[in-house]
Amino acid sequence: MARASGTPHHAALARVQSRGRELLIGGETVGALLARAGRTPFYAYDRQAIAMRVAELRHMMPAGMHLHYALKANPMPALVAWMAGLVDGFDVASGRELSVALATGMAAECISFAGPGKSVMELEAAVAAGITVHVESERELAILHQLGVQGRRPRLAIRVNPDFQLKSAGMKMGGGASQFGIDAERVPALLHGLDVSRVDFRGFHIFAGSQNLSAAAIAEAQVETLALAERLAVDAPVPIAELNIGGGLGIPYFPGEQPVDLAAVGASLHRLAERARASLPGTRLVTELGRYLVGEAGYYICRILDRKESRGRVFLVTDGGLHHHLAASGNFGQVIRKNYPVVIATRMDQATEEMASVVGPLCTPLDLLADNMAFPRAVPGDLVAVLQSGAYGYTASPLGFLSHPEPMELLV
Ligand SMILES: *Cc1c(COP(=O)(O)O)cnc(C)c1O
Repeated sequence: MARASGTPHHAALARVQSRGRELLIGGETVGALLARAGRTPFYAYDRQAIAMRVAELRHMMPAGMHLHYALKANPMPALVAWMAGLVDGFDVASGRELSVALATGMAAECISFAGPGKSVMELEAAVAAGITVHVESERELAILHQLGVQGRRPRLAIRVNPDFQLKSAGMKMGGGASQFGIDAERVPALLHGLDVSRVDFRGFHIFAGSQNLSAAAIAEAQVETLALAERLAVDAPVPIAELNIGGGLGIPYFPGEQPVDLAAVGASLHRLAERARASLPGTRLVTELGRYLVGEAGYYICRILDRKESRGRVFLVTDGGLHHHLAASGNFGQVIRKNYPVVIATRMDQATEEMASVVGPLCTPLDLLADNMAFPRAVPGDLVAVLQSGAYGYTASPLGFLSHPEPMELLV
């Protein structure tokens, strides 16, 4: 796609594939996918792109480290079933996600359940299934001890609210007061109170942040995570079987952002694994990722219904918008709105000719998918694709707002 020199570029546009005028997703033209979906708007997720991403990660990860998928990034059941054959385990954050994870046939001991405010019903279901509960509070720990008297020992790990913060993370967790995990300084007392005849204590879960593009910052957080786990392990009643070191790898959404240097992350993970072999022998390291595995494999496709010109500006009005894709509209945790990578999926062979804004059908100026971006001249009937849409799309959007139909989801 042509662009003015000096304009920061969307990194994701470099890997877009097309045939003739049409965008290709998983080797299929956008027109063929539309025929399969039956209608716009729809999400399409490229399963081979996900498999390739997992293969790249495995190639750089130390042997023996486990890779988990965090379902909340994209819990589409077919996609989760595909992931079951690629990763070593799942991290879930609700009872419903737990049932989707179990339905894939993934072994219970490879599923963990984190998140504040677990209900008694969710905890009972987790214990019945034999998965590992990541305990977020003294209350949850007390309930698990109670559930443990009925002849089962609930598997649990303690989620620790770390005393450090992941630098330059898109979403910061840890370092201060938090609803996530138990403050590191309170963990030793809690470990002394564990009754291992009633609960199966597995280890620690320390998640320091999300959407980080800096390999150096990720490496630093991982070193601090291991150091914290080493300190806490001293007070544990049994050796630490598992240490979940979080993940945090981000993807480039906005102009000028660069992908994470995976080789650098790999090198630091190897150093980390080596240190852990000495300091926590027998402990399995687990890393958990959501968006890094699926975000770049997903596309949101909508159709242009109208083309309006208003006081010198062009508006391409589509049947899709923030009700389906809140993050692309800039209203999911962004401080300053920036454009996701967006293309006219039916004019891939045409040069950019004009500046236009892609908007949705909702009666709010927030319903904006592209703000004044360079596009080929597009007309009603053309399809628009929002890239980097495989994570925090469908289920992270206010689908009921304005009562339009929900988008379809395709796994290609
Ligand atoms: C949301 C979440 C993840 C996944 O975050 P991504 O940025 O999608 O990789 C991982 N672990 C925990 C505990 C989470 O809450």
